[in-house]
Amino acid sequence: MKNEEKAQQIEHIRHTLAHLLAAATTELFPSTLLTIGPAIDNGFYYDMDFTPTSAGKLSEEDLPKLENKMREILKTWKGFSHKVVSKEEAEKHFAGNEFKLELIKEIAERGEEITLYTVGDFTDLCRGGHVEDASNIDPEGFKLSHIAGAYWRGSEENTMLTRVYGLGFESKAELEAYEVQQEEAKKRDHRKLGKELAIFDFDNDVGPGLPLWLPNGGAIIEGLENLAKETEFAYEYERVRTPHLAKDTMYKTSGHLPYYEDSMFPPMEYEGGKYYLKAMNCPHHHKIFASGQKSYKDLPLRLAEYGTCYRHEKSGELFGLMRVRSMQMNDAHIYCTEEQFFDEFKKVIDMYLYYFNIFGIDKYQMRLSKHSKENLGKKYINEPELWEKTESMVRECLVAAKVPFVEAENEGAFYGPKIDVQIWSAIGREFTLATNQVDFAVPGRFGLTYTDKDGSQKTPLCIHRAPLSTHERFIGFLIEHYAGNFPLWLAPEQVHVVPVKESNFAKAQEVYASLRKLQIRAKIDLSSDGFGKKVRAAKNMKVPYTIIIGDKDMEAGKVTLENRDKGNLGQMAAEEVLAKLTEEIKARS
Ligand SMILES: [Zn+2]
Ligand SMILES: [Zn+2]
Repeated sequence: MKNEEKAQQIEHIRHTLAHLLAAATTELFPSTLLTIGPAIDNGFYYDMDFTPTSAGKLSEEDLPKLENKMREILKTWKGFSHKVVSKEEAEKHFAGNEFKLELIKEIAERGEEITLYTVGDFTDLCRGGHVEDASNIDPEGFKLSHIAGAYWRGSEENTMLTRVYGLGFESKAELEAYEVQQEEAKKRDHRKLGKELAIFDFDNDVGPGLPLWLPNGGAIIEGLENLAKETEFAYEYERVRTPHLAKDTMYKTSGHLPYYEDSMFPPMEYEGGKYYLKAMNCPHHHKIFASGQKSYKDLPLRLAEYGTCYRHEKSGELFGLMRVRSMQMNDAHIYCTEEQFFDEFKKVIDMYLYYFNIFGIDKYQMRLSKHSKENLGKKYINEPELWEKTESMVRECLVAAKVPFVEAENEGAFYGPKIDVQIWSAIGREFTLATNQVDFAVPGRFGLTYTDKDGSQKTPLCIHRAPLSTHERFIGFLIEHYAGNFPLWLAPEQVHVVPVKESNFAKAQEVYASLRKLQIRAKIDLSSDGFGKKVRAAKNMKVPYTIIIGDKDMEAGKVTLENRDKGNLGQMAAEEVLAKLTEEIKARS
């Protein structure tokens, strides 16, 4: 509850700051036409038309002046007062402002009250939601950040307005912390580092939103898949493989068609049928369950696949690896009985925690989205008892695992409760990792059954889970989280071997060969570049270890080991280095 209050308070501050920006603008640029100005995630903005002013437009250089004016006016502000006015009164107040007049007309047409809010000398059309006392706003807790063009109501056919953006926080300290985080995030931007570290790329001929994983990205993917395969093997999952497309008949059974069609690639006509690229792996896995008779002895059945899915995302919404059109998902479906459900779900949560520990993810939260009684049979499948039972089992699992979680009423999926997982990167940015779902309905739609002990046919429950999300989203997260400094086990290049001069080449090649033999991703630099340049090249690519071999090392029968983070670790016997690295990779530390 406390978090919600804080969120509301900050929203009120931001909304009030939007009024303050409008007030300052109309003082500095009389005749500015105000339009709308909401609170946003990190502050506020206001869309305005400067053409009627003497300046004609606003430039970034005007922002400090505007900001100072805001501070000046803020000193005179206290509480807001408001009055309900008639349409005519409102029109009189905003005469000459076509934008506000349009808004007033719409409010009147909806039959809603038209309210004007006043603070200090400034009055605006508004629905409320301000701080009680504007004099409590920290004058150093906000700043104007930039301007951009924005069409009135987002339509290209309308007037182009000027949008002034501001950052707004409760205190100067919070504003500064946010700016530091933004700076750091820019340095860690996965699109920038992804290019510098040659992890992934896009190509116009391949198509937008379809990432190409370069060898370095391929190595990271291999590392993640090995982790998933090992872990899932220990949890008794079985691996399957499915095609990347299927006929429309299957997607009709699953309900993807027509409900999810907008998110799928358009179909291919082929041999008189219609084929779709798969947007989810579930239906294919259900078909694997359906292959052959199942009995209670086969359950729980856990089918795992790093399945590639294709989704239609609007080109304007594509974003680096975070929003793509092809993705490889750490998917699995667990088919179980109601009695097995608690244990199975608990094990899924345990797997998340196991992964979080490996990746140093200290801050995370799960959100349990539930049904609502009123919407049973409408928004939710009509199985009141099953809803209650599974929701309380999921809750018990979360409590037992000591996972921080919140609950959300009336947010479940159609066919069962779900859990959304949020994680925070090392610099405190929030990412949505994955969603787990309990599914009562689809196994039934596919006619999936098993023979129970008493010989009766029963429908299993299905748990959808993807703890490592998709490679695209998760590696995008990891790039930021590690700032590109991947731990040894996951680093694309794990060891860089550097002979100081030609007389050291043979020894260096010998060490290099033993590293490769141990499956360690090593590279050797036999170029004519100077020693310093070779070492720097490895540093630039954020390689965890560099092995240096010079004359002195050879005389001592040793090599020199350098660590990316700890610096020079001194001379060691080559065998000792090999053992140390093998151990560290195995421990995934
Ligand atoms: Zn307002
Ligand atoms: Zn699924």
